[in-house]
Amino acid sequence: MSDAAALPGQPRGLVVSGPATERAVNVLAPNPSAMTLDGTNTWLLSEPGSGLAVVVDPGPLDDGHLRHVIDTAEKLGKRIALTLLTHGHPDHAEGAGRFAELTGTAVRALDPALRLGDEGLGAGDVVTVGGLELRVVPTPGHTSDSLSFHLPADRAVLTGDTILGRGTTMVAHPDGRLGDYLDSLRRLRSLTVDDGVHTVLPGHGPVLEDAQGAVEFYLAHRASRLAQVETAVEAGYRTAAEVVAHVYADVDRSLWPAAELSVRAQLEYLREHGLV
Ligand SMILES: [Zn+2]
Repeated sequence: MSDAAALPGQPRGLVVSGPATERAVNVLAPNPSAMTLDGTNTWLLSEPGSGLAVVVDPGPLDDGHLRHVIDTAEKLGKRIALTLLTHGHPDHAEGAGRFAELTGTAVRALDPALRLGDEGLGAGDVVTVGGLELRVVPTPGHTSDSLSFHLPADRAVLTGDTILGRGTTMVAHPDGRLGDYLDSLRRLRSLTVDDGVHTVLPGHGPVLEDAQGAVEFYLAHRASRLAQVETAVEAGYRTAAEVVAHVYADVDRSLWPAAELSVRAQLEYLREHGLV
């Protein structure tokens, strides 16, 4: 979901299809909404000089979009050799089966139900295609199957819905858990501090050029929301819906159903830690 606060390192509010780093091109899907911001970013990745490309998140089941991704690769002289998924939400993964059919590629994901082909995807995996190297970073929390992909050659990380290019994301309780999400943000922070990652290629919204600033903002935002929820519970707001109406009063009502899932995740976290 999208809060009003601007993110550190956000150069401008517009998202355009096209090159983002030396190895990453965004093909924006035509599915804008309050939840998906400008639409889903379908990432086309390729090593310079190589004829092979990897696609991360084909997006919704929209034939026009899927063909546009393939056309974009062809215009760059690339053949799509592999499809990866950051997680199973339909705005990222629904088109994967059809895309695999159109491209003849395998689909690799953490969730076995989303895979097409023999290979899974998980912690410690390094995916190499035509000289391009992607390191798989497990980042559960938004969902239990969320992965990020570290692209060391561009000092970039593809974050799916774990970090968005604008506003903040939701913890999709009960599948998504807040404790996992905070651990994932800390894992991403260590990529920025220890591995020199400075660019976030998000699943929605614009590219962020201050990855560490974005992660710190997300951690601070989660801490302040958690404190607000804790205070609301202490003040007598009991149900998730009551807490949302109180704590998320500043957020557009169309996002309240998503906020309620995040609040459920926060209530669970507070209870597990003996804080309420
Ligand atoms: Zn999602």
